[in-house]
Amino acid sequence: MHVLVLGGTTEARQLARLLAARERTVTSSLAGRVAAPTLPEGNVRIGGFGGVEGMARWLREHHVDAVVDATHPFAERISANAAEAATRTGVPLLALRRPGWTPVPGDDWRFADSLAQAAQLLPDLSDRVFLTTGRSGLAAFAGLDGLWFLVRSVDPPEGEVPRRMTVLLDRGPYTLQGEREVLREHRIGVLVTKDSGGAATAAKLVAAREAGLPVVVVRRPPVVAGVEVAQDVERAARWVRERVG
Ligand code: NAP
Repeated sequence: MHVLVLGGTTEARQLARLLAARERTVTSSLAGRVAAPTLPEGNVRIGGFGGVEGMARWLREHHVDAVVDATHPFAERISANAAEAATRTGVPLLALRRPGWTPVPGDDWRFADSLAQAAQLLPDLSDRVFLTTGRSGLAAFAGLDGLWFLVRSVDPPEGEVPRRMTVLLDRGPYTLQGEREVLREHRIGVLVTKDSGGAATAAKLVAAREAGLPVVVVRRPPVVAGVEVAQDVERAARWVRERVG
């Protein structure tokens, strides 16, 4: 039995470990974006497949019995490709998507449907922005010359970036104390985040709440229609067991 886990998330690594422990052949696939990724257990392949056609070919050639798309909720292209490749090959597909975050009393969240929409909200909120949406997509904020950005990412930003920007290279999980210090040290006035969900990067939301700061939350894109979804690793492992034994 061969399971392909499309990875790049904590949950993908946890699932690979669980499946490998149950003596299944697991291959985790990483995009290759991060210079020194945390590697999952089991087999690992790195780099794109070459679109839908390439992934479908890979599934056939490697006799894959099931695919779990455990990529980040904002990795839209690979998820769409997986859905199409699964349909073409008849290989069962599950999307593993951790739940998004929900505001609690004391939070001051503003929602945006895209990075561009998030950028539009900022000038009315503060001129000191903590941007935690990752190193790509910063072009959406590049025109905001009156604002200063603290950009936190694992690897240096790519593409067009804001003119006034400080980069903080770091990788989660982050602690509450650490997040409090970042907000204070850089006199942050507003936080921007994707609705990534999960515990590893949630402390910034608590720190922002404590400091009374507004948070711009970019909503998730929808899961591809018709694709089955599991919200946690245990359920995904059960799905694999039911599908391929
Ligand atoms: P994306 O826009 O959905 O995908 C772009 C292309 O990258 C895909 O068409 C595919 O190339 C390749 N690719 C993406 N994920 C892959 C994987 N797991 N294995 C093999 N190829 C992959 O992806 P993205 O948003 O740039 O994210 C890239 C990776 O970073 C994902 O694995 C994701 O889990 C992780 N990540 C993303 C975010 C985020 O905010 N987007 C945050 C944290 C981690 P081909 O068409 O050639 O196959």
